[in-house]
Amino acid sequence: MAGYVGRFAPSPTGPLHTGSLVAALASWLDARAAGGRWLVRMEDVDTPRCSAQAARTILGQLDALGLRADEAPLWQSRRTRAYQDALDALVAGGLAYPCACSRAEVAAAHAAAGRTPTRHRPLPYPGTCRAGLQGRAPRAWRFACEKYWSKWLLAHAGLRQVARFSIANDRLAWTDRRLGVQTQNVPAEVGDFVLRRADGLWAYQLAVVVDDAFQTITHVVRGEDLADNTPRQMLLQAALGLPTPRYLHTPLVRGADGEKLSKQHGAPALQTSEPLQALQGAARVLGLSSVPAQTRAADALAHWVMAWRALYNPAP
Ligand code: GLU
Repeated sequence: MAGYVGRFAPSPTGPLHTGSLVAALASWLDARAAGGRWLVRMEDVDTPRCSAQAARTILGQLDALGLRADEAPLWQSRRTRAYQDALDALVAGGLAYPCACSRAEVAAAHAAAGRTPTRHRPLPYPGTCRAGLQGRAPRAWRFACEKYWSKWLLAHAGLRQVARFSIANDRLAWTDRRLGVQTQNVPAEVGDFVLRRADGLWAYQLAVVVDDAFQTITHVVRGEDLADNTPRQMLLQAALGLPTPRYLHTPLVRGADGEKLSKQHGAPALQTSEPLQALQGAARVLGLSSVPAQTRAADALAHWVMAWRALYNPAP
């Protein structure tokens, strides 16, 4: 498909593991099945947790598996200017504001209102600084999500479907290529989310939106744990006047305890000395059939590109 651009965007906090390979392989297969381009972006905004060594290891692992990008990687740590410009544009449009609240203060505000967060359902920001800092020192910057939500509704009144998402009955609705229709009430479930953190680091939500647009990404393929971040990213794209790509969220690999396999969770580094074996494991998670053990990795990849096309035709 002409114009298709996909990407794999690892955070280099450690080497690839079985879980992250699933996203890498799926995004590569989708791009190849579309006859498009595939890029790698190092999401090293969280500088204290990232390392150049881990980034080099990831690039070496991808190369050993035959997943080769069409361009040199983009490094988020070098994109500060672009993130600042995006924040400035939001501030100028009245869609971002400084926030002085610490985590403890946010928790106290919720407790005072009798609301208790759970691990899987954190509470939205209560909006304390929306009306101004009241003499307190700014710490973070937040997206005026509630305000933009109303503004979007006003601007699109009467239009049922705009681009790749719609808002109706208090819910943003979008269609994931694997999961189908997804909905979220972003102001109620997420609230005014952070764009720049109190420690000065750029938040994932802002960086990912700015860079997907900068790299002209048309199709995002990534792990299912990020599916509920998508409505936030769609609102930011709309607020910044950027296009919304299509999204496909892949199944997660879970550990014995049912938690998502992750580096923080002690997932072992992926061994690439037997490329086929590594790829085979990820292909299975994606619902692709196994190939005979003596198959060359390149032939297995070519086989899965065809199978992937049949499953998730990347054409729009
Ligand atoms: N850097 C994110 C991660 O490693 C992925 C971001 C994305 O694909 O949007 O989980």
